[in-house]
Amino acid sequence: MDIVFLSTEAVPFAKTGGLGDVCGALPATLANRGHNVTLLLPAFSSVRAAGVPIRTTNISFAVEMRDRIVGGRLLAADLPGVDRSRSGAGTATVYFIDQPQYFARPALYGDSGGDYSDNCERFAFFCRAALHAISRLNQSVDIVHCNDWQTGLVPAYMATGFESHPWMKHAKSVFTIHNLAYQGQFWHWDFPLTGLDWKWFTPAGIEFYGGINFLKAGIQFADRLTTVSPTYADEIRTPEFGCGLDPLLRSRTEVLSGITNGIDDTVWNPATNPHLRIEAAAEKGSAEKGSAETGAAVEVVEGKSSLPPGNYDVDSWQAGKAAQKRRLQQQLGLEVAAQLPLVGVVSRLASQKGWDLILDVVRSCLHENRPVQWAILGTGERHYQDALAELALQYPDRFGLQLKFSDSLAHRIEAASDLFLMPSRYEPCGLNQLYSLRYGSVPIVSRTGGLVDTVVPVTAETLADGTATGFQLQNDSQEELDQVLGEALRIRHHEPQIWEKIVQTGMRQDWSWRQSAAQYERLYDGLMTVSPEPAKKQGKSRV
Ligand code: ADP
Repeated sequence: MDIVFLSTEAVPFAKTGGLGDVCGALPATLANRGHNVTLLLPAFSSVRAAGVPIRTTNISFAVEMRDRIVGGRLLAADLPGVDRSRSGAGTATVYFIDQPQYFARPALYGDSGGDYSDNCERFAFFCRAALHAISRLNQSVDIVHCNDWQTGLVPAYMATGFESHPWMKHAKSVFTIHNLAYQGQFWHWDFPLTGLDWKWFTPAGIEFYGGINFLKAGIQFADRLTTVSPTYADEIRTPEFGCGLDPLLRSRTEVLSGITNGIDDTVWNPATNPHLRIEAAAEKGSAEKGSAETGAAVEVVEGKSSLPPGNYDVDSWQAGKAAQKRRLQQQLGLEVAAQLPLVGVVSRLASQKGWDLILDVVRSCLHENRPVQWAILGTGERHYQDALAELALQYPDRFGLQLKFSDSLAHRIEAASDLFLMPSRYEPCGLNQLYSLRYGSVPIVSRTGGLVDTVVPVTAETLADGTATGFQLQNDSQEELDQVLGEALRIRHHEPQIWEKIVQTGMRQDWSWRQSAAQYERLYDGLMTVSPEPAKKQGKSRV
């Protein structure tokens, strides 16, 4: 199948969150499975820092943005993660839409002052340039798979036959909602930037409470809608989680489904990840130092593994995690103590992620001097940064904090932690709990979205049948989280065999993209067998 992916993030070129992980891994997985994949991304500044050779092309185009013409050109690279030597692999190229005024900026969407004020123009341009790019590449196109609000206009363009691009007659659109709360809403004065006729500016089109809503455009017009877990697909049809779009989503129930994200298990693999390597000499020195302090509940079994020092697998997790903990404690300036349980958090500092609750629980643990350490990595809202920084100053030996974006540290925190905390208010899929399972860091999660679909909570039954992989909160109160954390620490300390079973069950699970990619394939196949809706393909109004 010939699949065009549109996204503003894809690892290793651009990433602020899970969208980048998904759109880096899914296209490559589909190419490895024999599909011809083209990924279209904006040429953000971060693209050139990815270390992947970028080529210029001779394709350029001009887009009429309100009353001026804006030029753009295509850059290209081989899509990483594709095994091109494999027989049966498809073609896989990433094209970058190069428009330096819009995209060559320090950040993707905004800076400390908030979102960039011209985001409507930037992403309307991206969507319109993508149409030109697809036409100019002159390839056959079966599926155009759009992701999140920044690409939401494209299904509207395809459904309305905008600019009569020939490939639109055959191609079907898929729109994936990675987070319904981010909608790309702008005032109506910006509507001409979309190039669409004003007849589409109605409640049955892309108008939303008097403004434009890019996400609504995608939901309204795409042939198929997906979101990133089955539970989130149910939740977003309710007023509680629907962010005002639940009536529309309910009206499109028949084309909406949830496909749980996968993880790139070639990258998120504790047995091979290079960020976990520890120099043999450094390891020996710190092991000697650490052994004096070991009165550990978790027995450290040294010397069993044939993996490089620092890497570990399901059989050597105790030694591997102990070494990682020692190293992280040293790096974060925490007390180096093998017996102290370490709780990790890697997350955007946004209320969605339950930071109010995390802060309450961390404060009470630290104030009461409970024997727990914390390793926290995040960037985001200022007030959370300030509150966390204050705790780090007050409790340097128990509370390790890094307010930055660091892939390497994210791996090392996952590897070093005994527990991973993720009490999200809502969570479309969540990737960190999947990384935690893989790295043997037992997740404590709230009961929402993809967290429900991926973590099997500890209960008498799941312990008995050996399926438990983590802990689940029912009501997200501080008392409950205190109690669940206490129970997790109790099991870890007093029932090490049960703890080991929970860790190993999580580590053995297959959350790779292979499963999810097969589901997307079935969805694409289903679309290709549906005959076109005549009214739509002729660009007739649905309103
Ligand atoms: P969301 O997309 O809502 O931010 P996900 O759990 O789906 O949440 O994905 C978050 C991704 O971003 C994960 O890969 C996580 O490791 C990464 N991440 C978040 N914050 C940081 C950070 N400060 N440094 C490194 N990686 C981070």
